[in-house]
Amino acid sequence: MLVKRQFYINGKWVDPVRPQDFDVIDPSTEEPCAVISLGDRADTDAAVAAAKAALPGWSATPPSERLAYVQKILDIYLARADDMARAMSLEMGAPIDMAREQQVGAGAWHIRNFITAFKDFEFIRPLGPHAPNDRIALEPVGVVGLITPWNWPMNQVTLKAIPAMLAGCTMVLKPSEVAPLSSLLFAEFVDQAGVPAGVFNLVNGDGAGVGTQLSTHPDVEMISFTGSARAGAAISRAAADTFKRVCLELGGKGANLVFADADENAIRRGVLHVMNNSGQSCNAPTRMLVERPIYDRAVEIARDVAEGVKVASAHEPGKHMGPVVSEAQYSKIQGLIEKGIAEGARLVTGGLGRPEGLNRGYYVRPTVFADVIPGMTIEREEIFGPVLSMMPFDTEEEAVRIANDTIYGLTNYVQSQDGARRNRLARHLKSGMVEMNGQPRGAGAPFGGVKASGRAREGGHWGIEEFLDVKAISGWAAE
Ligand code: NAD
Repeated sequence: MLVKRQFYINGKWVDPVRPQDFDVIDPSTEEPCAVISLGDRADTDAAVAAAKAALPGWSATPPSERLAYVQKILDIYLARADDMARAMSLEMGAPIDMAREQQVGAGAWHIRNFITAFKDFEFIRPLGPHAPNDRIALEPVGVVGLITPWNWPMNQVTLKAIPAMLAGCTMVLKPSEVAPLSSLLFAEFVDQAGVPAGVFNLVNGDGAGVGTQLSTHPDVEMISFTGSARAGAAISRAAADTFKRVCLELGGKGANLVFADADENAIRRGVLHVMNNSGQSCNAPTRMLVERPIYDRAVEIARDVAEGVKVASAHEPGKHMGPVVSEAQYSKIQGLIEKGIAEGARLVTGGLGRPEGLNRGYYVRPTVFADVIPGMTIEREEIFGPVLSMMPFDTEEEAVRIANDTIYGLTNYVQSQDGARRNRLARHLKSGMVEMNGQPRGAGAPFGGVKASGRAREGGHWGIEEFLDVKAISGWAAE
């Protein structure tokens, strides 16, 4: 069992002021695989104080030097990709090959995109030809608190720590207590890259403890949070009295509008997207709306695809779906599947209990519901498990109405060969992102949502600007 009780504060690994052991559970086996300590106020205060002390020096460091540190972090991250994959696979159950390819890959992709965006990043910009003596200066927000979830650990950490560093902010990261191992490894990378003491600090802890301490701390200027809508709202409230900037990336209930003229792979792609990462992706297209003429066939294809998804331990190599992260998530998903059945949705495949042959580990059966009616619990709530809800529609207007009738608004999807229709729908769907015909977002595109999905924008130059305050200056002397 790994012993990882220390925190990374002011460039050193330090013991918790008051140890409070917390087991990290391997979801593939339900056995503890590591022990960490949950931090307390004294640890949080020490980390914030270190970040505050490092701020003047770091924010004055030339951008090219900050970029060089980030480039070093990327080099180390790539060199130690196998270690990082193992850490994530162990702590949150991503199958090892998937962890190596997708989980590690996502982090590397974001770091590269930030490097590209930063190369021509202007911290001082003209307002416009009408105001030759005006400048808009972008200045680091200050000490930032980064609070991250367990589902795509390095995806989230790199989307926050890297742009914060580039912007000139100093920071305290509190990763998910459920999946802290990858972040501890990331702190090692930052240390190895020689980033000055105090710029990056890590304190483990839970939401009620370190999470709340950061959200209310008078010396923290901003919280960048990814996680549930519940915690996002709690953080906004907690941060209100100190007037922090709060950037939230929350949940989703993405609609995937499949028209009769969709390409033949559209259904398969949609189902596999839901099952990827055991359904634990905020942008998963979990509501599949299918145009009536192809609906019955689509349900058959979805059943076959879901039944073809193998479920196995995260430690096994190969292409399969691993467990979900925890007992709490397992029980929540089971409860929602039960609700789906009780409220009358048609269970096409999957359902309650573990897949055959798997008696230990948080394994969920790849599940497809058909004839889901808007308003049913499984159509409204984020399940965060490998569960797809399918429903038919007759008109484009009806599909848009159903898609938009949700508290969330992260990613929606459209499958159609009709370009004019795609462009129309891209504008009518209420979400921060619309992905069509299986084409992923390009490098540097902003990731984020509207409504209860939160309104942060992460990635590329938008992601860097999140960590900068805008200052309007007039009377600037000509250079
Ligand atoms: P969670 O909200 O329970 O926890 C996320 C993080 O917040 C953890 O570090 C946790 O310790 C901390 N936290 C919890 N309560 C807090 C509080 N009151 N104050 C401060 N910090 C608090 O979420 P989770 O279960 O770890 O992650 C799953 C959720 O995250 C899902 O709803 C998912 O959709 C969402 N998510 C969203 C995105 C996105 O980019 N939009 C990405 C990944 C996950």
